Amino acid sequence: MADRYLHLTGTAPGRFLTRRLGLPQPAPLRRWTLATPRLDGPLLHLTAGTPAIRDGLGKVLATTGLTVEERAARPAGIVLDATGVASARGLAEVHAALHPVVRSLAPGGRIVVLGTPPAVEDHHQAAAQQALEGFVRSLGKEIGRGATVQLVRLPADGTPEAAGSTLRFLLSPRSAYVSGQVIELTAAAPDPVPDRSAPAGRTALVTGAARGIGASVASVLARDGARVIVLDVPGARDDLVRTADRLGATALPLDITAPDAAARIAAAAPDGLDVLVHNAGITRDRRLANMPAERWAQVIEVNLDSVLRTTDELLSAGALNRGGRIVATASIAGIAGNDGQTNYAASKAGVIGLVRSLGPRAAAEHGVTVNAVAPGFIETRMTAAVPFLIREAGRRMNSLSQGGLPADVAEAVAWFAQPDSGAVNGQVLRVCGQSLLGA
Ligand code: NAD
Repeated sequence: MADRYLHLTGTAPGRFLTRRLGLPQPAPLRRWTLATPRLDGPLLHLTAGTPAIRDGLGKVLATTGLTVEERAARPAGIVLDATGVASARGLAEVHAALHPVVRSLAPGGRIVVLGTPPAVEDHHQAAAQQALEGFVRSLGKEIGRGATVQLVRLPADGTPEAAGSTLRFLLSPRSAYVSGQVIELTAAAPDPVPDRSAPAGRTALVTGAARGIGASVASVLARDGARVIVLDVPGARDDLVRTADRLGATALPLDITAPDAAARIAAAAPDGLDVLVHNAGITRDRRLANMPAERWAQVIEVNLDSVLRTTDELLSAGALNRGGRIVATASIAGIAGNDGQTNYAASKAGVIGLVRSLGPRAAAEHGVTVNAVAPGFIETRMTAAVPFLIREAGRRMNSLSQGGLPADVAEAVAWFAQPDSGAVNGQVLRVCGQSLLGA
C-alpha cells in the first residue's frame, strides 16, 4: 500500500498545507542505489576532550570514501569523537563541537558520536558517557530533514579499525532508516578477515525468503557477492523459486519447524554456511484472554523455538564456518510490547535474549557472531494488511515520519554479515526510524 501522504508532502502545495496544519513533514530518505552508493559531501571529523581510543580514526574514516575534513561548509556526515568525555563538565565540549555545525548538515546527513562504555569503577565517566545516549536520542528526534544520529561505543582498549564496518554502514545511504541507536562494539574481532570487502564468495542462507524482508535480505547479500540459499515453506514454493531465479540463488523449500530442518540446511551447504539469517516469522494476534494455546504455540515455535533449535544444531554440527555470522530477526514489539501480541512480542523478546547470551559464547567457541535486527514499521504485505488508521499511526510515529522499506532491514543485516563486522556481536539494531515505541 503506497504511502500517499509521503508523496503529497513531496509536492509544493502539500508541503505548504502540511506546514500550515502542523502535520509531520517526512523528508525523502537518501537510500543506497548503484548510482548513489555514498553520501554526497564531505565528512566532518570533530573531537570533544582528549580521545580515549588509540590513533587511527582518521584512517578508518577515510575508508568511507568521503573526504574527511576538520571544517566543512555543508558536511554530509559528522563524526564526533567523544570517547574522552569523562565528566559532566566535559559535556560542554560536545555542545561546543556540534552546536555551531548541526544546522549546516546536508539533508539526509549522518551524525555519529563515538563514545566508550560507561565504566563500572568510575561514576563520573559513566555519567558523562551515559549522557551521550540521551543526547543522541534527543538530537535524532529534533534534527529533521531525513538526517540520522547514532552513538557507537568503542571499547576503551580497542582499536578504531574494529569500528570500520560500522562507520562505513552508518555514514552511508545504507543506514537511511536507522536513527537514535546505540551500538556497542567488542574489543576483539573473532577471526578477523583481512579482506574488508563485502561477503564475496561466502555462502548465506536466509529463512522466510520467498517474499518481503527475507527476499530483500537475499537480494542485498547476493548484491554483496554471497552465494545465497533461500528457504521458505513448501507452500510458498512458486514465490521462492521466482526469488531464487531472480537472484541466481538456490531454493530450499522447507518448513523451518521440521525436526530435520537443521540437517537439511547443513546438507544444502556442504562447504558450511558463512551467514545464517533467521528471518522467517509469523503473527497470530489476539489478546491473551482470547488466545487459544495453539496460536500461542505456533508463534513461539516459528519465531523463537526453531531459531534456537536450528542455531544450536548447526553450531554443534560445525555447519557454520569460522568468521560466520548469525543474524536473527526481532521486532520493536519485542522491546515495547504491543496490544494483541503477547505471543509475538514474547517470541521477539526471546530472540533478543538469545542474541545477547549466545553472542559472546559463539564468538569464543566457534568464531561466529550473533546479532539481531529489530524492525519497526516496514512497508510489506504484512503491514499493508493493517487497518488504515493504525497503519498511518505506525508510519508517522517515528523521527523520520515514515515507514521503512524491506531494503532498510536488509542493509542492516548485510552490515552484520560483513566479514569485517567481527567486533559487532550480541547487538540488537532497531531499524525503525527511531520509533516512539520502546526505548
Ligand atoms: P512476511 O510475512 O512477508 O514474510 C515472512 C516469510 O516467512 C513468508 O514468506 C513465510 O512463508 C515465511 N515463513 C513463515 N513461517 C515459516 C516457516 N515455518 N518456515 C519457513 N518459512 C516460513 O513478513 P515480513 O514482513 O517480510 O517479515 C519478515 C520478518 O521480519 C519476520 O520475522 C517478522 O516478524 C519481522 N518483522 C517485520 C516487521 C514489518 O513491519 N514487516 C516488523 C518487525 C519485524
